[in-house]
Amino acid sequence: MNNLKNLRGTVDLLPDQLIKWQNVEKIILEQLSRASIKEIRTPILEMTELFIRGIGEATDVVSKEMYTFLDRGERSCTLRPEGTASVARALIQKGISSNPLQKLWYMGPMFRYERPQAGRQRQFHQLGVEFIGYQSVRSDVEIIAIAWDILRKLGIKELNLEINTLGDFDDRLNFQKSFLKWLEMNKDSLDLDSQNRINKNPLRILDSKNIQTKKTLENAPRLFNFLSEKSHQRYSDLKKQLEILQIPYVENYNLVRGLDYYTHTAFEITSGALGSQATVCGGGRYDDLIKQIGGPNTPAIGFAIGLERLILLAGKELEVPRNTDIYIVNQGLIAESLAIDLSRKLRNYDLLVELDLSGASFSKQFKKANKLKSKSIIVIGDNEAANKEFIIRLFDKESFENKEEVISLENDIKLEKWLNINLLVK
Ligand code: ATP
Ligand code: MG
Repeated sequence: MNNLKNLRGTVDLLPDQLIKWQNVEKIILEQLSRASIKEIRTPILEMTELFIRGIGEATDVVSKEMYTFLDRGERSCTLRPEGTASVARALIQKGISSNPLQKLWYMGPMFRYERPQAGRQRQFHQLGVEFIGYQSVRSDVEIIAIAWDILRKLGIKELNLEINTLGDFDDRLNFQKSFLKWLEMNKDSLDLDSQNRINKNPLRILDSKNIQTKKTLENAPRLFNFLSEKSHQRYSDLKKQLEILQIPYVENYNLVRGLDYYTHTAFEITSGALGSQATVCGGGRYDDLIKQIGGPNTPAIGFAIGLERLILLAGKELEVPRNTDIYIVNQGLIAESLAIDLSRKLRNYDLLVELDLSGASFSKQFKKANKLKSKSIIVIGDNEAANKEFIIRLFDKESFENKEEVISLENDIKLEKWLNINLLVK
């Protein structure tokens, strides 16, 4: 019989690994809630058309990487490859005009059919932040600062922020004219994929990963030289404000990002500590997206962080599990049900309590408590049950002595006092 396995490019996250995930997520959520950014959750499955219209048909994501299928009602569905289009769709559906300014975040699995390698999976996870309705350069700066600070808070080293500007629709139209002329002249030096894009979506060619094409492109006209005065001004304001905040950046004129919806600011944050998949965060402004998928003209900017790459980068200290505070050793019919009751009471405190359910001998249960390096144990056996009490014993690391106390099961005040003195002190 064949063994069943997970699909290629998907990963099981087991309890030991999830300690780090949970610690990372906790720090992220704290940062987001302190910045008054609210959570949004949208379906993982969407109509395929949303991504075709939102991300763009000629992008790698839509043309090669989507998980698309017909459901039983013959509707074309796609497992979301990214979060922005879904957020935009949800807000349009709800009616953006009733709430024109929103700061939102989402976190969850995304799906892209790619070649799996370190830091690249077919099901991966993103944290995304979207500022909807915000037009000013200051919103670009705040978005970048939030991404930057999350990465800094997680102790990630060798961070590198790259920025570029893609101008607005008209800037790109002007650029496209002369770029198209140049492409026709240099067609033979481009890879096949890029040649096919000349008529479909020439700007996509700038995102080519093909080495020969990249080299040829070095002599192509630059989008930067076709920006209007206003777009230039916007970009230099952005740089000025980043400097005031002391967020270091490098300009990268070739940074176009993999999705069609970006306008003006585009940015990426990489870390030298990652191998070839160095980009941990990608983002930018997408002033045309909401209109493009049927909503009112609404400016917006956002970013997405790849959580798998973040986990690879975050410090080892976030992998350390929390210590057990109390291990409840219990045996005997009455003792065992009293122990359940006591464990429920202990959950009113910020303590990590484990109730032994093995029914094994006392010595085996003590061994388990020892193995877990539990700070204390509670013992309830037949004698304790008969007296309606329990023994609580603290392993004092400094004196190597065990502090022990007998507490009545009804004396909640005495229990709380003991916990306060011995376990809850920071
Ligand atoms: P890349 O150039 O690495 O393919 P991208 O431009 O496709 O990235 P975005 O669509 O901007 O990436 O997504 C934002 C972030 O999500 C990336 O910077 C990366 O950290 C993460 N990411 C994207 N695709 C994957 C994947 N297949 N596996 C793991 N993480 C991914
Ligand atoms: Mg990609």
